[in-house]
Formats: sequence, C-alpha cells, structure tokens
Amino acid sequence: MRAVTQPPPYPSFDVSRSPVPVDGCEPCRKLAARRAAARKAYDHSAVADANVLMRTHLRVDHGR
Ligand SMILES: [Zn+2]
Repeated sequence: MRAVTQPPPYPSFDVSRSPVPVDGCEPCRKLAARRAAARKAYDHSAVADANVLMRTHLRVDHGR
C-alpha cells in the first residue's frame, strides 16, 4: 500500500514573498485572515489573490 503524499502546509515560495500585515490595521488584519483561511484550504489562487490585495493596500495606504 502506498502512502498518499500530503501537500506541504505552507509552500516555501509563497512564505518568503508574502506581504506582512501592519499591526493594528483593520484591512491588513482582514486580508491576513483571508490569506490564512485560503492556505488552510490549500487554495493557492485565493492565497495569491489575498497577497495581491495586501500588497496593493500596503502600497496605497501605508506607502510601502
Ligand atoms: Zn493596512
């Protein structure tokens, strides 16, 4: 019997490129929660979506 290979919980390529939410910022918190939920569901396109939204928000609202 062959063991089924489990996908890694956090793809390494994603972690290093993920934008970091700002402490105390509500939109950041929501986007981080959305990204965490997508990761849990192994929904990589939703994770990428959340990262794009967070990068845009960081640039527009935090000047990063
Ligand atoms: Zn923010």
